[in-house]
Amino acid sequence: MSTGFDVWDLEKPIADAIVKLGWEKPTEIQTEAIPIARRGTDVVGQAKTGSGKTAAFGIPIIEKCEPSGIPQAIILCPTRELAVQVAEEISILQGNKGLAIQTVYGGTNLEKQAASLAKGTDIIVGTPGRVIDMTKRGHLNLKQVTYFCLDEADRMLDMGFFPDILWVFENMPNRQQTLLFSATFPQEIIDAADEFMSEAVHVMSDDMEVDIPEIELNAIRIGRANKLWVLGRIIANMDDDGQMLIFSNTKRMVDVLVERLSKFRMKAVGLHGDIPQNKRERILNGFREGKDKILIATDVAARGIDVDGITIVVNYDLPVETESFVHRIGRTGRMGRSGEAWSFVSKEDRGSLEKIASTWNLTIPYVEVPALPEGMDRDPIRKRDDWDEVSDSFGMVRVNLSIGKADSTKRALSDWIVSQAKIQEIVLGEITQDEKSSQVEIHVQKVAYVMDVIKARDYNGRKLKPVIVNA
Ligand code: AMP
Repeated sequence: MSTGFDVWDLEKPIADAIVKLGWEKPTEIQTEAIPIARRGTDVVGQAKTGSGKTAAFGIPIIEKCEPSGIPQAIILCPTRELAVQVAEEISILQGNKGLAIQTVYGGTNLEKQAASLAKGTDIIVGTPGRVIDMTKRGHLNLKQVTYFCLDEADRMLDMGFFPDILWVFENMPNRQQTLLFSATFPQEIIDAADEFMSEAVHVMSDDMEVDIPEIELNAIRIGRANKLWVLGRIIANMDDDGQMLIFSNTKRMVDVLVERLSKFRMKAVGLHGDIPQNKRERILNGFREGKDKILIATDVAARGIDVDGITIVVNYDLPVETESFVHRIGRTGRMGRSGEAWSFVSKEDRGSLEKIASTWNLTIPYVEVPALPEGMDRDPIRKRDDWDEVSDSFGMVRVNLSIGKADSTKRALSDWIVSQAKIQEIVLGEITQDEKSSQVEIHVQKVAYVMDVIKARDYNGRKLKPVIVNA
C-alpha cells in the first residue's frame, strides 16, 4: 500500500498542486478510487462527507482532459454551493495545466453563463436543471463529453434530480467513463448505477456502512420553548476559534433564529433557498473566511458546505429524513479533526432520534444542558416554563415533594393540596411515596399555580420544596 501521491506518477501540474496544498498522503477513498478511475474503469464510490472525494474523482478527470475549449467532462452536483466548491477544488488541483473549468447552475444570469461557455470550456461542474437548460438552448454540447461524474448521488436522488440526470446521461452518446459518488446507497442508487455504468468497480466498505467521522454526539431533551435557551448555552461555551452550523428544517425558522439570536446580541447568518444566489455566496464566503462564526441553514442550503473550521453542529430540529443526520454531522470533524454535534430532542422527537441512532448504528446519549462557562453568571437567553414538555400523555406533570410516607399519608397530602390551592380533586393524579419523598401528579394546566401555592405554605410546619420530575 502506498503512502504519498508520488507512486502514481501524476501529471506534473497536479503533482505540483498537491505539494502546494500540503497534502501528504491520499485519503482512503482517494487510495481506492484514483488508480481504478485512471485506468478508465467506471467507479461507484462510497464517500463520506469530508473524505476527500472531490480529489478522488477530480484528479483522474483533470488528467484525462486537455485544454481544448471543448467540454470533455461533466460533473453534476446537487447544489450550487457544492458545484462552486468542486469547481474551486478542481481548479486548484489542476495547477497550471490550463484547463477551463466552468460552473453551470441555476439562479444566476443564464446569458452570462452562456457567454463564458462560449469562450471555451473543458470541464463543466453544474447542477442538473441548468445543464439541461443550457444544452436545450444550444449553449452546451453534450455530444463531445466523454467523462461523466455524479457527486452526492444520494442527495440528488432525494432532491428529485434523477429524471434530469437520466436526460443528461441519454444526451451524452460518447460517454466513455462514469464515476458515481454517494455517502449512502439506497436501492435506487444501486439500480441507477447498474443502468448508467458498465462493469463498474465498487469502492466501499464491505457492509456499506457509512463511515462516521470522530464526532462527539450528544442529545438534549428539550421542548420547543427552551431550545433557544440551550442554544445560548452552547454558543456561550464555544471556543473563540470555533464555528457553528445550526440546522433548522424550514426557511422561515432559519430567519426567525437569526433574528432571535441577534436580539440577544449573538450574530448569526442564515442560508436558505429563498436568499438570492449572489447573497448566498457572500454569506458562505464570510463564514468560510471565519468572519461569521454562526451559520443557520436548511439541509438543502447546507448541502456540500465544506468549511473545515466547523467545530459544532447543532440540530435545532431533528432532520425529517434519517439520512440527513449523517450529512449534517459530517459538516464537523472534517479530515479527522474532532467535532461535536448536539441534537435538540423534544418529546415528540424521541422516536426519531432512536430511529436515527439505530439506522446508522450510532450512540447518541442524552446529556444535561451544558453549564455556563466559568465567569459567566447569567444565561445569555433565559429559560422559560415549558409545561407541555414535562407532562405525560394524560396531561399530568409529576412533582416531587420532600415529605415521605414516614411523615404523611397520601390521603392527607392530597387533601392538604386540594384545600390550600382550592382546586378540584381531579387536578391531582396518582401519588407515589417512599420514606423521604412523595411524587404527586398535577394537571399541566394547574401545575405552575399549585407549585406556587405549595412553595408559599407550610405543611405541618415544614416546606415541601416542589420540584418537577422530568418525564
Ligand atoms: P471533500 O470530501 O472532497 O469535500 O474534501 C474534504 C476536504 O479535505 C477538502 O478541504 C479537501 O481540500 C481536503 N483534502 C482532500 N484530500 C486531501 C488529502 N489527501 N490530504 C489533505 N487534505 C485533503
